[in-house]
Amino acid sequence: MCVVCMLFTLLSIFSFPVITKAEDGLGVSYSAFFSQNGWGIWYMDNSNVVSEGNYISALRLGLYNQPQELNGTIRYQVNVSGLGWLDEVENGAETGKADFIQEPLESVRVKLSGNLEEAYDIYTKVLQNNETWTNWVKNGEDAGTAGVGTHITGIRITIRAKGSEAPNENDEKTDEKKKEQKNLAKRSIDPNKPMIALTFDDGPSEHTGIILDVLEKYNARATFFVIGNNLKEKNIPVVQRAISLGNEIGNHTVSHPDLTQKSTSVVSSQIDGVEKALREITGTKPNLLRPPYGSYNRQVLNQLSKKGYACILWSVDTLDWKTKSADSTTKTVLEKAKDGDIVLMHDSQKSSALAMERIVKGLQDKGYQLVTVSELAKQRGQLNAGKAYSSFRR
Ligand code: ZN
Repeated sequence: MCVVCMLFTLLSIFSFPVITKAEDGLGVSYSAFFSQNGWGIWYMDNSNVVSEGNYISALRLGLYNQPQELNGTIRYQVNVSGLGWLDEVENGAETGKADFIQEPLESVRVKLSGNLEEAYDIYTKVLQNNETWTNWVKNGEDAGTAGVGTHITGIRITIRAKGSEAPNENDEKTDEKKKEQKNLAKRSIDPNKPMIALTFDDGPSEHTGIILDVLEKYNARATFFVIGNNLKEKNIPVVQRAISLGNEIGNHTVSHPDLTQKSTSVVSSQIDGVEKALREITGTKPNLLRPPYGSYNRQVLNQLSKKGYACILWSVDTLDWKTKSADSTTKTVLEKAKDGDIVLMHDSQKSSALAMERIVKGLQDKGYQLVTVSELAKQRGQLNAGKAYSSFRR
């Protein structure tokens, strides 16, 4: 049991985090299900999502940085080859066929509702048959062509202030963004090579950015289990950056209690508070939860099952909170972590941030791929809501 974790429990007042509008304004995030690879990572506003030799068969879309004074949400509808238009869904829900059966999307419609519709335009374009991008369409118009045998193999969506000019064909929002997309595009996981999932608990903190810098430099990924009470305004950019670099964000509860000691309703609100905050910040819904102290029981798993979360533990414990030593943390990871392991660290610990370069380089030199927990699970079997996992060894 971790002292830092205990402190959180003692210090935190049970409340939902306050989210305020970030500078960049309203954005859309999206994730696509590819016919051969399954669900891809979440991308942020105006990113090209393309998969070679694969088509898209399902989508999920969310909003981030929604101004508090504006109600409404994102609504979307997909046309599936052979099935036609499915019912419209909204705000993070999956639609399409996420089942590896040959049912590509042919067209999509994306729009905003409520006050958002009056304040913003939402633009969508799709890549058809890996050849041609359509022109931008906006506010619920058809992106793609249904019924003529074309398949959607890529998608790009962006939100602009109402009445402003349509986005240029190639205007990724910043050079920084372009660089990130290039890195993401280059990366692929080799299922035959060993892989490890590094995980960081109790953030985000002022040290999280250092960890992201190292991950970016080495084209590696990790999973961050965040505490709701830490999702304060100053930490919003680092969470958004983590996602845009292809890392995974998991739920570590609002105020870090031992969930086995709490009532069902408290367990529920501890999970929901983080989920609500992450939706507001990133437009994404986490599907991993790490219970504080690794403590769970049947009641907790039942809640996770209902809410669509897998319970993620660990197989290598660095005890970084105890040693506060970058040397010790590095040594533990490099000596103990093996193929399929989930490694527990804390991005609340400066020593772990300082150990990162040696850890990432050391593991990569030994031939390990550094992947998110969901990526590891996808390579090694199943990730089921309401089930607990401490590793994905072969
Ligand atoms: Zn913790």
